[in-house]
Amino acid sequence: MPAKRDYYEVLGVAKSAPVDEIKSAYRKMALKYHPDRNPNNPEAEASFREAAEAFEVLGDADKRARYDRFGHSGLEGTGFHEFTNINDVFEAFGDLFGFGSVFGGRGRSRGPAKGADLETDLRLTLEEAAKGVRKSITVRRQTRCAACSGSGSKPGSSPVACTTCGGRGQVVRAQGPFRIATTCPSCQGKGQMIADPCRDCKGRGRVQESAEVDVDVPSGVDTGMHLRVRNQGEAGEPGAPAGDLYVLVQIDPHSLFERSGSDLHCRVPISFAQAALGTEIDIPTLAGRETLQIGRGTQPGDVIRLRGKGMPDPRGGMRGDLLLHVGIDVPKKLTKKQEELLRELAELDKSHVSPERKSWLDTVAEYLFGATDEDQKKA
Ligand SMILES: [Zn+2]
Ligand SMILES: [Zn+2]
Repeated sequence: MPAKRDYYEVLGVAKSAPVDEIKSAYRKMALKYHPDRNPNNPEAEASFREAAEAFEVLGDADKRARYDRFGHSGLEGTGFHEFTNINDVFEAFGDLFGFGSVFGGRGRSRGPAKGADLETDLRLTLEEAAKGVRKSITVRRQTRCAACSGSGSKPGSSPVACTTCGGRGQVVRAQGPFRIATTCPSCQGKGQMIADPCRDCKGRGRVQESAEVDVDVPSGVDTGMHLRVRNQGEAGEPGAPAGDLYVLVQIDPHSLFERSGSDLHCRVPISFAQAALGTEIDIPTLAGRETLQIGRGTQPGDVIRLRGKGMPDPRGGMRGDLLLHVGIDVPKKLTKKQEELLRELAELDKSHVSPERKSWLDTVAEYLFGATDEDQKKA
């Protein structure tokens, strides 16, 4: 009997490798040497078994500890066995790494499958999103056939054993020296066939329906969020739950408010006179109309923050703020009286230049002529 290789060497991992690394190393080797990828290749088959053997030891804390202390001889009496046959490997680890999904359902037959998930859109107004709302959504989905309770067999008739696999759910084929069991392609492992199909669903066990599903939308939801409604997706196989319904929220643009996370932004246009003198104006909030004091000397672009007047947080956190962006409306048309008064004001402005404006004019002069008024006077 040839000397056995070191298990760490077989999997290509360090002696200190954590169990996750060992698992991942084994998975890589198993995929590489898998008989489905290496038909009629006894060397690959031997490597496949060797890797499984190494994993059986290194993947188990107890056996690994014994192996680390005593080497191969330390494993006697631990229930350890060599894999002499490839089906032993599938027996031991076939499902562990989901080879079924990679190689088409090898090994044990699976249970009834859960129904598929569905996704649908839901449009909401900003007000609905702010308050929360119960919505009824129409969903087109596969549902269990009522006539046959999802069995697919005509009521009163029963399924019969699958003729391909004789009811075993598996077919065994020869591959070189090995016999490999795979899921029966005719019955997908169920072992049964429908002899007399249900007339409503033609033996499929499911029918298309259009259902009204109530969705409770929590307050504060935002565009792009998914709401999950359990078991309102497609029907599963008999004995398995339905899939889930995912509702993708889309909030319509609002005529006044623009949303950014839980904050709301709103433009508030006031006149030059209101901004200069201060005033009281009505502003909109989600809760309705409110009165706001505009201070004397308010500048265009000033932002007034109203705390807690934004959107609620769907996760129960702090409510957002309402930010009012002040804009100064410059009239495009003037009455005669307005024009007279503004001209008068303009004359006054010429002789009473504000300190801020004066320093700006100086900066402009310096930029354009390379010297300030003062410097030019000196020259
Ligand atoms: Zn039916
Ligand atoms: Zn079958």
